[in-house]
Amino acid sequence: MSTFQGPKGTYDLIPPDSEVFLAVREALAAPLRRAGYGYVETPAFEHTPLFARGVGESTDIVTKEMYTLTTKGGTELALRPEGTAAVLRAALQRNLHRGGLPVKLWYSGSYYRYERPQAGRYRHFSQVGAEALGAEDPYLDAELILLAVEAYRSLGLRDVRLLLNTLGDANCRPAYRAALQEFLRGLDLEAIDPDGDTRRRIEINPLRVLDDKRPAMRALLEGVPLMRDHLCQECKAYHEQVRDLLGAAGVGFEDAPALVRGLDYYTRTTFEFVHDGLGAQSAVGGGGRYDGLSELLGGPSLPSVGWALGVDRTVLALQAEGVTPQPPSPVEVFAVPVGEQARRVLFGVLTELRRAGVAADFAYGGKGLKNAMKSANRSGARLAVVAGERDLADGVAQLKDLDSGEQHPVALDALITTIKEKLQ
Ligand code: AMP
Repeated sequence: MSTFQGPKGTYDLIPPDSEVFLAVREALAAPLRRAGYGYVETPAFEHTPLFARGVGESTDIVTKEMYTLTTKGGTELALRPEGTAAVLRAALQRNLHRGGLPVKLWYSGSYYRYERPQAGRYRHFSQVGAEALGAEDPYLDAELILLAVEAYRSLGLRDVRLLLNTLGDANCRPAYRAALQEFLRGLDLEAIDPDGDTRRRIEINPLRVLDDKRPAMRALLEGVPLMRDHLCQECKAYHEQVRDLLGAAGVGFEDAPALVRGLDYYTRTTFEFVHDGLGAQSAVGGGGRYDGLSELLGGPSLPSVGWALGVDRTVLALQAEGVTPQPPSPVEVFAVPVGEQARRVLFGVLTELRRAGVAADFAYGGKGLKNAMKSANRSGARLAVVAGERDLADGVAQLKDLDSGEQHPVALDALITTIKEKLQ
C-alpha cells in the first residue's frame, strides 16, 4: 500500500468491475444515440454563479455540497455538481438554439458533491444525461422517459419503478406555493427543527419540505396541500397527455403527488426512477421539465426537459438484482511464447491479430510456460497461441482452446485465418 488513499467519498474503478461500469454507461446512452441526441461535453468546472443561479441558491447542492475554488486570478469556479446548467450554458453560448428546435443533447461524465458518503452516495459520481431544449411538447417528455426505461430494460433490470408528478408552472405554482407555505407555517416544528433549517426552507423553498424523509416530519405532513389539486387547465392537460403517452407505450408508472426535485428550476413534468434494492439511496435516475431555466441564465425562453441517470447506482441496482452482466472478456486470444525466437514471432502474430480486429494479449515479462499459461487462463481469452523453438522449426504454433483444453498445430501462415474462423 502507498502512503496515499483516495479522498473520502470516492472509489476507484478497477478491472473487472470497471468493465461492468463501462457496459452500463454505454447501455444508458445507447437509446439516446438512436433517438437523435447529439453528444455534448462541457468542462468539469464552471463559474460558480452558473450553479448558484441555475441550480438554486437555496438548494443543499449550492449551499453545502459544491466544491468551489478561487483561481490565482481571483475567478470563482466550482466543480460541476450536475449537468443541466452547464449543458444549457454551452448551448446558449454556442447558439445551438438558433437552429432547429428542439436541440437534443446527451452527455456523460463525472459530477462532484460534498455529501455525507454512504452506500450509493459518493462525492465523485458518474451520470449519463439528456436534455431536449426549446420545445414544450408532452411527446418530448414522454420520449425521454421512454428512452430511460429502454436503457434500464436493455440492461436486464426488472425492479425499476417510475414515479411521476407535475410541478405546475408559473401560472399555477405561485398560488399552490402560498397554500403550501400557509400549511407549513401552521405546523408545530419546535421539537423537530431545533436549528431552524426547516423553518428557513419553508420561507425560501417550501416545495423542498415535501422531500423531508424524517418520519416525524412525514407524520406532520399528513394532509399537506398537493400540487395536483392546484393545477391550471394547461398544466393538467399537459400532464394527462404525458400519462396517456406512457400508458400507450405500455410503460407503468406511479403517481407521486409529493415528488419534488431538489432543484429550483423544474416545472411541470417531474419524475424519478427508483430501485428498491438500494436502501436509502434508491434513486437511480431522475429528471423533468425546466421551462424557466434558460431565462434565469440570461437566455431566451427555451422550454426544455431532461434527465440524469446515475451510472454508479445503476451498477448497484444490477448487483442487487443479481443480473450484473458478465463483463465480456476484452481479450480473445492470448499468446504464449517460449524462448526469445518465439517471442519475436508471436509478437508479430499479436500485432497482426490486433490489426485484424481481434482482441489479443501476450505473456510479457519472459515468463516460463506454466506461469504464462496461468496468465492466459486468467485473461479470460478463448484461445491461446503457444509456440516454442521446436514448433517454429516445424513452421507451426499450437492453438489451444482454453475452455476444452484441446490443442493442435496450425501452420504459421494460416494462423490468423484459422484464429478468426475459430472465434466466429
Ligand atoms: P440528481 O442530479 O440529484 O437528480 O441525480 C440524478 C441521479 O444521479 C440520481 O438519481 C442518482 O442516481 C445519481 N446521483 C446523484 N447524486 C449522487 C451521489 N452523490 N452519488 C452517486 N450517485 C448520485
